[in-house]
Amino acid sequence: MTAAPTQDRYLLRDVAPLGGDRVDMLLADGVIAAIEPAGTLTADDSTVVIEAGALIALPGLVDLHTHLREPGREDAETIHSGTRAAAAGGFTAVHAMANTTPVQDTAGVVEQVWRIGTEAGWVDVHPVGAVSVGLDGTHLAELSAMADSAAQVRVFSDDGKCVWDPVLMRRALEYVKAFDGVIAQHAQEPRLTEGAQMNEGVVSAEIGLAGWPAVAEEAIIARDVLLAEHVGSRLHVCHLSTAGSVDLIRWAKARGINVTAEVTPHHLVLTDELARGYDPLFKVNPPLRTAADVEAVREGLADGTIDIVATDHAPHTREDKDCEWSAAAFGMTGLETALSVVQQTMVDTGRMTWADVARVLSTAPARIGRITDGPRPQGRPLEVGEPANVVLVDPAATRLVVPTEQATASANSPFGGQELPGQVVATFLRGRATVLDARPVERAGTLA
Ligand SMILES: [Zn+2]
Repeated sequence: MTAAPTQDRYLLRDVAPLGGDRVDMLLADGVIAAIEPAGTLTADDSTVVIEAGALIALPGLVDLHTHLREPGREDAETIHSGTRAAAAGGFTAVHAMANTTPVQDTAGVVEQVWRIGTEAGWVDVHPVGAVSVGLDGTHLAELSAMADSAAQVRVFSDDGKCVWDPVLMRRALEYVKAFDGVIAQHAQEPRLTEGAQMNEGVVSAEIGLAGWPAVAEEAIIARDVLLAEHVGSRLHVCHLSTAGSVDLIRWAKARGINVTAEVTPHHLVLTDELARGYDPLFKVNPPLRTAADVEAVREGLADGTIDIVATDHAPHTREDKDCEWSAAAFGMTGLETALSVVQQTMVDTGRMTWADVARVLSTAPARIGRITDGPRPQGRPLEVGEPANVVLVDPAATRLVVPTEQATASANSPFGGQELPGQVVATFLRGRATVLDARPVERAGTLA
């Protein structure tokens, strides 16, 4: 399959790729057809002109960690609603986590998710395969069958659960070497976190909720980087959240271990102080940590220790969230606020450039997921001849987050009522607009 031909032609006039010098950029036939100095490209009648003088162009964003909930929990999100939310947030590809019902642990289930995602046409959907059958943590799933399927799975994770058994983890790391796969670990020592409700620390002690200690994350990361080194395989650490975890990844990389790591937008800005209100909107796994941890993950992201930002978009129904803290589900939505939170915490603070944003939200996650090449490449540079996966951002805009007005089918955003900087104005998937004028473009049929 190649990039589908398209009638769509867009001239992005006076746009700033990666926030740099302004150019005119023509998107035609699914690719970036021309890039010329600003004011020099002209449009014919069939070309839509977008006056982009206030806008930055980034390569389409790639999320390595999305929960689309389908199959099984379509009351919280569907592949259609979740990928529409992704497009609204500037994404052109997402990796859909395996903890669905049934679990994405066979070629049949991952192909089903891949097909529905392709037909929805909002973004490329890359199913993540489960490491263990039914996420049971004991029996290795059919990793090679999922890798060989039409979905071409390269990322495997029991996310939501930790692959706790070191023997199973070792076998999984060894197994994926055959097809250049990666194990994405949800690092949570289960015995140290039994009954845990929030970060273990001053706040948990004061408000009387059971704590999830930092060491429960760090112990698994320490073990797994050593296992990855021992078997010469590739490890990815999901949603790293503590200062100690950043130190461990820094150490592992200095040692030459093949490890990558992600941080979520919410761990870049929110702290465990928010638990004092007992509002389950702020209940998430791993939990919100301390201000010192927030500072450490920002520093780790800025210096490259942490490779990427991944949303861990985790939609939940009102029934599962509007209840007392201890009964509520873990998780928060994130696809439609991720870019704004990264701008707020990293760009507007002077810690990262827009080129860095393109790296942590597009290029690097695409590389880790092994989707920079192949039939539908993502995370490619904004150059002539490359697929026209492009997002236009207005960094000077501010917007009020209204969770019930978002594209996601769930309303559990921790940023509701907040003014966030930045607005996704347009998203293009292989030259076709999925978002225009900051609104999803509804179309029927298979277009991807
Ligand atoms: Zn997780």
